[in-house]
Amino acid sequence: MHSYTYIAISQLNDFMFCPYSIYLHNVYMGSDEENYHATPQIKGKAAHERVDNKTASTRKDVLTSLPVYSETLGIMGKIDIYKGNEKLLIERKLHLKRIFKGQIYQLWAQYFCMIEMGYEVEHLAFYEISTNKTTPIDLPGEKGKIELISFIENFRNYNPTDMIVINPNKCLHCIYCNLCDKTDMENVYT
Ligand code: SF4
Repeated sequence: MHSYTYIAISQLNDFMFCPYSIYLHNVYMGSDEENYHATPQIKGKAAHERVDNKTASTRKDVLTSLPVYSETLGIMGKIDIYKGNEKLLIERKLHLKRIFKGQIYQLWAQYFCMIEMGYEVEHLAFYEISTNKTTPIDLPGEKGKIELISFIENFRNYNPTDMIVINPNKCLHCIYCNLCDKTDMENVYT
């Protein structure tokens, strides 16, 4: 087993948006243990739920909010929906005008967790609730896996004192804007 702490899949998109936001999140919101510390208990729970859900899947065939993790990639999180009969993993969003790379990384991350946990996944998709629209996403393949691993490594090695490029448009929509020492702007939510 790796000795490093696990990265929350849900933070991959935030890191893509702005690495510094992860630092602010941890400073101001506290690092919740589910995000940063995969204790054996949590992992055990994930494994048990997998077994429970697998039993249930023969009846329902649809799993929701399943905790997942990958020891290989050092990540953990929850999937949204898995349809066993279609081998389809779906992430629902209320609005999805465009799909960001960080969101695709999140879906790929969930996919690799599920594969490692023994589930069969052959299709990935986003589902936009507001429009009832499904958008299929290609499986990552080996190339995508290498890309994701390198992204996770960047996340793991990130140092908040590293220089970042400030994108005012992002800061304007960042929930940490008012707390952030990298900008004097105020976000649109105030
Ligand atoms: S306010 Fe700007 S620089 Fe600061 S965390 Fe948000 S996006 Fe990053």
